[in-house]
Amino acid sequence: MNYDVIIIGAGPSGLFAAERLSHESYKTLIIDKKRIPGGAGALTDGKLVFHPRVGMDLEELRISEQESKGYADHIENYFLSLGINPDKISNANTDEGRALKEDAAKHNLEFLLHKTRHMGTDIAPSIMKKFKSRLEDNNIEFRMKTGVQEIKKENNEYELTLDDGEKLITKNLIVGPGRGNSEWWRNQADKLEIEYNHGPIQLGARIEVPKWILDPITDISYDAKFYFRSLSHNDPVRTFCVNPGGQVTLESKSDSIKINGDSYSLVNGHSKSDNGTENSNLAILVSLPLTEPETDPKEYIKRVIKNTYRLGDGEPLAQRWGDLKRGSRSKEETFFSKERGFDRLNPTLNKYTPGDISLAFPERFYSGITEMIDQLDKIIPGFGHPSTLLYIPEAKFCDTIYKTKGKTMETSMNNLYAVGDGAGKSRGIVGAGLTGILAAEGIINKDSNLTLVHEE
Ligand SMILES: Cc1cc2nc3c(=O)[nH]c(=O)nc-3n(C[C@H](O)[C@H](O)[C@H](O)COP(=O)(O)OP(=O)(O)OC[C@H]3O[C@@H](n4cnc5c(N)ncnc54)[C@H](O)[C@@H]3O)c2cc1C
Repeated sequence: MNYDVIIIGAGPSGLFAAERLSHESYKTLIIDKKRIPGGAGALTDGKLVFHPRVGMDLEELRISEQESKGYADHIENYFLSLGINPDKISNANTDEGRALKEDAAKHNLEFLLHKTRHMGTDIAPSIMKKFKSRLEDNNIEFRMKTGVQEIKKENNEYELTLDDGEKLITKNLIVGPGRGNSEWWRNQADKLEIEYNHGPIQLGARIEVPKWILDPITDISYDAKFYFRSLSHNDPVRTFCVNPGGQVTLESKSDSIKINGDSYSLVNGHSKSDNGTENSNLAILVSLPLTEPETDPKEYIKRVIKNTYRLGDGEPLAQRWGDLKRGSRSKEETFFSKERGFDRLNPTLNKYTPGDISLAFPERFYSGITEMIDQLDKIIPGFGHPSTLLYIPEAKFCDTIYKTKGKTMETSMNNLYAVGDGAGKSRGIVGAGLTGILAAEGIINKDSNLTLVHEE
């Protein structure tokens, strides 16, 4: 079967690429190995964060702040048109938000004044299904539960081999495989000799506290973003993915990290639209670029993940802040000790081993995380209570950044576009959607320029 455009991945990047193409007359197909569309986060939490510094790198995308705002507005309006709750919005740019920003600055923390909308784990799947039906109404074809095994270049076209051996041909290919399958994509890119750079390692911990501790902050900004430079190494550290009333979870098997044939799930978090639990959680991530001779962040993170899981006897590690501060590991028998104040907080993650984060994580990451908790405790009283829980490993695999031409997302290979988190171009739903639109516009603009040349 022949197509004008095939999109691999029905995550936010692929869906928004298709949405942009649906206004043109391309024969377009989206392929995804999952049963339902929406990709990773749209199926798990669905916070839509709007700020040019969040989830994208304007320099990398080569767009201005103004342009990014235009794309983000379109993405926001599109989600609203699909029926997300318009009242589930939080805007930090208020008197209280600005006062918090000042307070944070006194403690070497930067607090971001941004806007967040929240779908919720329970709502996101139905929104994504609506997204798919609307695209189908506009002549976009879908093949769900279908994996692409291999990409080959044949003359000026791309040949895709599917799981069942069927072959599809397309003139333009958009690849948005997400972080979950970024390794598969890198293998394909290596075979096609597509050029890329390595991004920084992003490694951290998921922190859980009683909901009432974080409420004063999440009432100001639902997905509160704080930035910090570690005092010991000057590494960038940030909060990420806040879940008020949420649950700490393990990422699904399909999104897990594969190391020598074994699957390792990263810790993550989510919350339902009605904010169900008595706890809140957030991630603290440390970013660190690697330099020669080891420049591949993925291989480095894999070693850390493997070590963590080994210490946890096949499970992620959890440590009480009180234990960490005393320099000792957490243990099963004292994990809920009333004497130490640990009975104040029950973990929402149901699979973990009490342990010692300092044994699992290299010092730079350990210091970045613990120093930031100390700073946050100064503006969020109780954040550093002995009962506070740290879970590892939490990591972001946006580590391979494909070289793209201008703002088109076109790789070093003609008519092959790499988008979303799996291309190292975004770190969130809005950013991923934006890169999908850029790729679609790349195709449309290239074709209209070609038409002009032919007409001349
Ligand atoms: C648990 C969790 C919670 C999150 N919460 C949020 C949040 O609240 N807000 C936010 O902004 N971001 C969140 N994120 C991040 C967000 O999910 C991603 O930034 C975003 O989904 C990236 O979009 P994408 O299109 O690049 O990739 P993805 O959403 O990962 O989609 C990629 C798709 O490609 C498919 N695919 C890959 N390879 C193949 C292949 N070979 N053949 C066929 N199909 C293939 C996959 O099945 C997948 O559906 C969360 C992530 C996780 C894991």
